[in-house]
Amino acid sequence: MYESSCPFCRIIAGEARAEILLETKRSISFLDINPINFGHALVVSKDHFADFDELPEDVLLEITGSLKTVARAILDSVHPAGFNIFNNNGRAAGQSVFHFHFHVAPRYEGDGLKIRPNLKVYESPEQMAEYANMIRAKIETNDKSGERK
Ligand SMILES: [Zn+2]
Repeated sequence: MYESSCPFCRIIAGEARAEILLETKRSISFLDINPINFGHALVVSKDHFADFDELPEDVLLEITGSLKTVARAILDSVHPAGFNIFNNNGRAAGQSVFHFHFHVAPRYEGDGLKIRPNLKVYESPEQMAEYANMIRAKIETNDKSGERK
């Protein structure tokens, strides 16, 4: 699956330059061109899936294996003080390239990246249970309908 307008598909097809770190059957990792810190890598599905929801589970498992390899290599070579692994889904969540990818971002104390969540508080245990019930009900029905990819 290839989308000619997708920058990651162009890298995978060899039509655009990238510093490729690792390639497996269904995953590829390369450096982010706008790193949070130097050595910031992406781990991407080779096929074009828009986001986490579209990604088949077997591809996710392969990508997870590559994540382990790439994160270990960044720790051993770049020696960051820490690292974040994250994945954005949808514009509201900060996704800018709509081809599934995980970020592996080296981190340092005081490196300027600030994530300041405006944390909410459930009004009551009942309200919290309401959310849990909505989600649990979908886990059950999705499992039965085999909707899990
Ligand atoms: Zn793509």
